[in-house]
Amino acid sequence: MRATVTGFEVHDIRFPTSERLDGSDAMNPDPDYSAAYLVLHTSDGSAGYGFCFTIGRGNEVVAAGIDALRPYVVGRPVPCTAADLAAVHRAVTHDSQLRWLGPEKGVMHMAAGAVVNAAWDLAARRAGAPVWRYLSGMTPEELVALVDFRYLSDALTPDEALDILRAAEPGRAERTRKLLREGYPAYTSSPGWLGYDDAKLVRLAERAVADGFRQIKLKVGADLDEDVRRLRLARKTVGPDIRIAVDANQRWDVGEALRWLAVLAPYDPYWIEEPTSPDDVLGHAAVRAGQPVRVATGEHVANRVVFKQLLQAGAVDFVQIDAARVAGVNENLAILLLAAKFGVPVCPHAGGVGLCELVQHLAMFDYVAVSGSREDRVVEYVDHLHEHFTDPAVVVAGRYRAPGAPGFSARMRPESVAAHTYPDGPVWQTPKHPS
Ligand SMILES: [Mg+2]
Repeated sequence: MRATVTGFEVHDIRFPTSERLDGSDAMNPDPDYSAAYLVLHTSDGSAGYGFCFTIGRGNEVVAAGIDALRPYVVGRPVPCTAADLAAVHRAVTHDSQLRWLGPEKGVMHMAAGAVVNAAWDLAARRAGAPVWRYLSGMTPEELVALVDFRYLSDALTPDEALDILRAAEPGRAERTRKLLREGYPAYTSSPGWLGYDDAKLVRLAERAVADGFRQIKLKVGADLDEDVRRLRLARKTVGPDIRIAVDANQRWDVGEALRWLAVLAPYDPYWIEEPTSPDDVLGHAAVRAGQPVRVATGEHVANRVVFKQLLQAGAVDFVQIDAARVAGVNENLAILLLAAKFGVPVCPHAGGVGLCELVQHLAMFDYVAVSGSREDRVVEYVDHLHEHFTDPAVVVAGRYRAPGAPGFSARMRPESVAAHTYPDGPVWQTPKHPS
């Protein structure tokens, strides 16, 4: 008899990162990195793991969203084929009543992503493969059938997607070998949090270069004079050959972005990330057209439709997928295919809790089976909280090593889950965490 999903546990996990200003930027000065964490259990004793990343308050809302999807998973057969995973994605994104809460954006959509990703983790674990390899072993036809093409066909048809995947198929084995040998390029945001003082910025920037990173990122957007000073300091520290991206975290209106970037441009920022609202497609296009710095966005882009428009409007130079904001692997596959169609490199967003662990699989799959390229592509890396995962991301000499463990690298250590459960875990019981 086929195994069924029998257990669906949702945990509210929070880390008190605001104490040290890790993760601080112009819009988010005091994040407590958090995960609404889902564990699936099966009737034959296996388990799958998924999560949404949040920055503290509201994590319980996302956890409730995940819980609302329980009926689509519990009591159902364990997903173990591409067709099963397409069905899970369709089911959790097309509930006729829950859809009203989006549609396909916000808390319910993120919750759907956690469920979809947990299903992928479960299926890949049972197949004995890391998700990047599990995906890379699927046929172009299976991959195309994973995607919901509704609202996309004016920019990308299933036949065009099939052509992209078939064109990459002959090189899959060779690129897999290269990936296993060389890894995938990373950049680090660790030096650039807005709350860090100059000494810490310099120390971490020096360490990044010594560790082999060829790109770092600084937060900007709170104070122009300060941004100029910090950018000059960073440039002086790393020299002319290291790329320095800057990230405004949605802080500006369009005119403000243009004025600010005119001042920063002489210091050669590699890209400006999230210059304005993630919903403002035409605003991004205006920023891109109105100044010389390349434009990147995507970590808060709600779904494949907005990515489609950003690409159609020529609004971005880099697409920054996030593994846990849209509806999981399936929707990110749609976005990878759109980016490939438009010839725009994908440079995934990561950091947070477990985002490096997840998104590395999607970038590696993109290289092996979709775009076929690592040129101008880098995955963000932030050196925080990896110790809470059983299969942490490994970055050596500025490159992600290809994960070898089965699954999506999504499983947190049980002792970390117990310690950081909010509000009753021991980490939250001391007086220094009054919230
Ligand atoms: Mg960012």
